[in-house]
Amino acid sequence: MIKVTMIPCIGKDSLFFKVYGGSYALIPKTKMFLGNKENRECRFCGKNEKETTFKMKAHIMPEFMGNKKYFSYFECDTCNQYFGKLEDSLFNFAGIFNTLSTIKGKKGFPKFKTKGSDFQAKEFGTIIQKNHDPENEDSFVYDEENERMNIDVTMPSYIPHDVYKSLVKIALCMLPDDEFLQHKNTVDWLMSKNSPQHENNPFFNVFRKIGGNPKMFPEPMAFLLRKNINKNTHRFPTYTLLLSYGIISYQIFIPFIDSDNHLVNEKEIIFPLEEHVVNHIYADGKPSELSVDKVSLASVEKKRNERHKASVGFKITKDFRENKK
Ligand SMILES: [Zn+2]
Repeated sequence: MIKVTMIPCIGKDSLFFKVYGGSYALIPKTKMFLGNKENRECRFCGKNEKETTFKMKAHIMPEFMGNKKYFSYFECDTCNQYFGKLEDSLFNFAGIFNTLSTIKGKKGFPKFKTKGSDFQAKEFGTIIQKNHDPENEDSFVYDEENERMNIDVTMPSYIPHDVYKSLVKIALCMLPDDEFLQHKNTVDWLMSKNSPQHENNPFFNVFRKIGGNPKMFPEPMAFLLRKNINKNTHRFPTYTLLLSYGIISYQIFIPFIDSDNHLVNEKEIIFPLEEHVVNHIYADGKPSELSVDKVSLASVEKKRNERHKASVGFKITKDFRENKK
């Protein structure tokens, strides 16, 4: 039995930055294509231009996160379609929080529809609520005074395993070629059919925070961090991905890395968490406790009609009720 310890590591001088040093970052700047435009070869299935096609624009993070800048040359059309299907689950997993993120994707701003209510963003930072039925069990109320959105809704369905695969895929895109080639086991799992054999794998979780960060992210921002190897970091996973978009921040740890094989023989695995995914709980106006929202992504079964009750720290620039017509 492995003991899993989560460590919230807040701030620049925290344990987090001592454990994880080497990093690859995608911070919104200019347009960028990873990989080699000439001699294209798909990173995921290994096929080249003679064996498959590379016509579609391959996004590193999905377009619904507001990604208009980061693409790759190393994802073929067949793999692109496969990842697109997995990303449906990543989109649905965030449900109403995509709408609240107010990011325009390919099909406009994402709507959130329930039986009696209908919400959609109008521009970045502005939400319109239509058809609000107070009798309906789904509710969505903005507490202006405390700048919180109180939500009690049924979320769209998603496959947890697919959510995890979509996040791992982003991390794998960020690795340089030489480092990528060392992680065959992770790629094999990513490209294979979902299997329930991983249900007890302690890596299959996402740590997330919704709202509560000082600003929203109109474009996605991702950091892939690699462990500093020394005697103190023995029980930490090698890679972690931090990803933020809109009002959402996620952190995952990359599974099936050879240099993590020893962890199964350890009594304890430590997952250090960066500040963007850790919530401060306030008492009397002062931060008194830290909490973490950990969601298991091990299941291969579709999750349906999951209720989500949340109170999210959320500041909107315009009062959405003004727009309610
Ligand atoms: Zn491919």
